Amino acid sequence: MHPFTYYPAITLDDALARIAEPRHVPIGGGTDLLVTIAEQLADPVAVVDVRALEGMLGIASVADGGLRIGASVRLADIAAHDLVRSRFPALASACEQVGTPAIREMATLGGNLCQRPRCWYFRRNIPCLKNGGSGCPAREGENQYLAILEGDPCFIVHPSDPAVALVALDATIEIACTKGRRDVLASEFYVLPRERLDRETVLEDGELVIGIRLPGAAAGGLQRYVKLMQRDAWDFALASLAAVRRVDGEVRLVLGGVGPRPYRIYTSVEEEATSGGLDEETIAGLAERALLDADPLSKNGYKVTMAATLLRDAIRELAAE
Ligand SMILES: Cc1cc2nc3c(=O)[nH]c(=O)nc-3n(C[C@H](O)[C@H](O)[C@H](O)COP(=O)(O)OP(=O)(O)OC[C@H]3O[C@@H](n4cnc5c(N)ncnc54)[C@H](O)[C@@H]3O)c2cc1C
Repeated sequence: MHPFTYYPAITLDDALARIAEPRHVPIGGGTDLLVTIAEQLADPVAVVDVRALEGMLGIASVADGGLRIGASVRLADIAAHDLVRSRFPALASACEQVGTPAIREMATLGGNLCQRPRCWYFRRNIPCLKNGGSGCPAREGENQYLAILEGDPCFIVHPSDPAVALVALDATIEIACTKGRRDVLASEFYVLPRERLDRETVLEDGELVIGIRLPGAAAGGLQRYVKLMQRDAWDFALASLAAVRRVDGEVRLVLGGVGPRPYRIYTSVEEEATSGGLDEETIAGLAERALLDADPLSKNGYKVTMAATLLRDAIRELAAE
């Protein structure tokens, strides 16, 4: 394994100054970073531990009735937290369905959002667009777990379950670096391969996710996170859906496991899903319309069927409430 220095940061300024240096990267639980170093996909000279920093820990209410979650809070703690479970059950459920108990005990929310994709060509350093190659071997190859939406020219799927719930809950990601701070909506945090291939998020070198804010307007109502996997546990989503009907009546339907970022379906479909009294034909038509842009590869057409099933179930439930 490539050698590197471990640096436990004590203050946020200290951490930001360190990760501003070339090839110094933040580490949370290390459940993905250490693997990518071993796989020669990352070659930091130092990893900066951001798990003990004030402002990146804790879950607290904010004035509008929402919550702020520090980026270093572990997924197991989010899933078990009373305020998350009562106000934002879709997020609690998404965290609860990540990997295994051991992973959830180690993994931080910030690290989960910034984990690298799992495409096996990329992970095994087989030349591909993301690792400096000239084409995408998955296009004609083993693409069964890859994107059906927004994929071209590289068909990665973002693996994060919590990200899907955060987009449906209109969350905001707080980002800091030595030059200052900025907020980015969870729906705008991920970049598509057609925009850039060297990374999956809007983060630039030296930037750190420090917290996630959930707005009070998205608290309560009806919230679901449903995940379909090959195995019952310890697996990534083949397709997942976060469905939210807020107290103010607004609906969000966001798919996971189907593209390089959580895929929010057309707002016109979301609006019609709340109109009530929908018959099965109309529900099926809405699910079909939501997936009009799906463009499956040779071996992943089944994901369109899965996503449509998730959407039909969610729309039926939303319409019945
Ligand atoms: C067997 C297995 C099954 C899994 N199943 C699932 C699953 O079902 N669903 C799912 O969502 N995930 C799954 N995962 C992935 C797992 O959830 C991630 O590895 C984990 O969430 C990463 O969090 P971490 O704190 O360990 O991040 P780290 O490994 O420490 O870091 C990951 C990346 O994020 C960067 N980073 C860390 N913290 C920050 C920060 N605050 N700001 C900016 N960048 C940061 C690091 O530099 C690194 O690039 C699985 C992993 C394994 C090994």
